[in-house]
Formats: sequence, C-alpha cells, structure tokens
Amino acid sequence: MALFDLFKKKPEEEAKFPSKEVAEHGETTLDQSLEKTKKGFFNKLTKAIAGKTTVDESFLDDLEEALVSADVAVETTVKIIDRLEARVAKDKYINTAELNRIMREEIITMLSEGFDQLTHRASPEPVEGGFDKLTHPDKSGQPYVIMVVGVNGVGKTTTIGKLAYQFKKHGKQVLLGAADTFRAAAVDQLTIWSQRVEVPIVSRGMGADPAAVAYDTVQSAVAKNVDVVIIDTAGRLHNKVGLMNELTKIKNVMQKVIPAAPQEVLLVLDASTGQNALEQARQFTAATDVNAIALTKLDGTAKGGIVISIADQFHIPIKYIGLGEKMEDLKPFDKVDFINSLFRD
Ligand code: GDP
Ligand code: MG
Repeated sequence: MALFDLFKKKPEEEAKFPSKEVAEHGETTLDQSLEKTKKGFFNKLTKAIAGKTTVDESFLDDLEEALVSADVAVETTVKIIDRLEARVAKDKYINTAELNRIMREEIITMLSEGFDQLTHRASPEPVEGGFDKLTHPDKSGQPYVIMVVGVNGVGKTTTIGKLAYQFKKHGKQVLLGAADTFRAAAVDQLTIWSQRVEVPIVSRGMGADPAAVAYDTVQSAVAKNVDVVIIDTAGRLHNKVGLMNELTKIKNVMQKVIPAAPQEVLLVLDASTGQNALEQARQFTAATDVNAIALTKLDGTAKGGIVISIADQFHIPIKYIGLGEKMEDLKPFDKVDFINSLFRD
C-alpha cells in the first residue's frame, strides 16, 4: 500500500463524525492527553461559535484567535479561515452544529491533503489500524531500519524504547543501535530501555563513531535475521552542513549492508515546544530525507494544534504520537480520531 493511501479514508468515513463508534482502543487516553489543547482550542472555538448564526467578521476573528492560541501556525490558520469562507457565504445563516461540522471537515481535509501530496518520497511502512498491522520486514526479507533524528530532549530515546516495546509485543525481533555517542547519558539511557523492554542493543559507549555503531548494528541485524533495527542519533543542530554530513555518513555506511536502509527516517518533535517544533522540522527536512514524524509530549500541552500545522506545512506523515513517559504511551496517529477527540466535549 502506498503511503498516501494510508490516510485516505472513504468519503463516507470522512463525513462521519462523532465519535463513539469511531472510538477504538486508546481513545480515552487520547482524550485525556488532549485535555489541555481542548481547553484552549475547543473551548475558545465553542465560545466563538456560541450564539452565532452567521459567519461574520467577529466570528472569523474569534476563530482565528482560537486556532492561533492552540499553536496552529498563522499561515495554516489563514488557510483554514479561507476554506471556511469559501464554503460558507459571508453573513449566511448557519447553526452551531453545522458550523462545528464544517470546521471539523475542513481540518480533516487539510490533514489528508498534506499526506496525499507525499508522492515524491519513499514510503515508510504504514501503521494504520495499529501496531498489530505491521508487516516488517519487507518482502526482500531485509531488516526494516528506522533512523531516529531530532534535537536533544524531544524524546528520541524514549520513543525508541516505546517502539521497541510495540514491535516486540507484536512478535518482531528488534535490535537497537546506540549511535548517539555524544553524551554518556544517552548511551546509558538507551541501554536501560533495552533492558526494560528486553531487546538487544549494539553499543560501543560514549565517543564512538556513530557511523561505525550504525554499521555494526545493521550488520549484526542481517546476521541474526532481525526484523526491525532502530538507530538512535545525536540531536546536535550545530549547523545545517554539519548535521547533514553526520546523518549522511550514518546512512551511507548502513547502505553498504542494506541498500534500502534506512527505510524510515523518523523525525521526533516535541509538541509542547509549539512553533519551535516547526522550525526544527524545517531544519531536519533540509538536512535529510525525513519520511515520518513522531510527535511527543502531546499529554500536558495546550499546543496540540501544532499537529495541524505540521501536516499542512511539511507533507510528511505524523506516524506516531507520544502521550506519556511509559512504554505503552505511544500510539499510531489517526487523523480522524485526533480531530474527533479535539472536537468532542
Ligand atoms: P532525547 O534527548 O531526544 O533522546 O529525549 P529523551 O527520550 O531523553 O526524552 C526527554 C524527556 O522527555 C524524558 O524525561 C522523557 O521521559 C520525556 N518524554 C519523552 N516522550 C514523552 C511523552 O510523550 N510525554 C511526556 N510527558 N514525556 C515524554
Ligand atoms: Mg536520547
């Protein structure tokens, strides 16, 4: 299945909303995690909509404020408002439920368009429907290599631990590579995760050449017939050329062993940093061919609207969302679930 099919829902599915029948596993957690974003976004939106019967200037102003305050970027907000205006004639009578429905549809369409435009990049393995649908390794029988990138502190190592847990739980053989050799703590932390989740790790300690660690990891993975390899990297954003060189070197050595590797370059972004996450996405997509995003720390932030801006501006699928620090707290991102949760009272 092509990546862009991943987020393509049948029209009747798109039109269908609330909620309880769409709700599947994990829905409660998503609702809980989005609590703060909902308070900021949904409550303001409700206030903007309450009592309104026409789409007038004051409504559009309130809507703009609600979106921006949930960290939807200004450009994206303008687009949403333009779309709404295109659908609803100015000053036309409309009821609250209808307005709510149109907003939801427009935002979902926006999320979908971002993903559908992703035709020029290699497609990573989709996880729609949950981790149990994963089919790694690919038909070639080679290990599926995920290179994890992002700045320090966004949650790379934690996300790797959570992914390893999910893959293992679904019967995959996993191998971790400790290629963030810049700080001793980074290697230790990945080692702790490998013990906690009980998956093996290739590590040469702090200061080792990251490319050499990555090479050893994929070589060992092939020898042991492993399904999924996950490579941690250092999050240094010294400058664009330095970052590009570092990541390119790691990729090149892995390709000597597995020509298609890394099948997935997973950029980890911290949702709680809001607009900074967008800036990081800009820098990393310029430095390497990112083809998937994990958005962490959606729990406890009011900035969940950043999801909409990332989809709108980068056209790279948000594949996973982090909803806490525990190993179970990673979910495949589902745009319909996400928007339904955001709009649910
Ligand atoms: P790295 O430097 O990118 O490897 O980031 P770490 O994996 O070390 O994570 C930095 C901090 O963020 C740690 O304290 C993690 O427990 C925390 N963290 C990571 N993901 C999440 C998440 O989804 N939710 C919350 N609340 N904390 C997270
Ligand atoms: Mg780390």
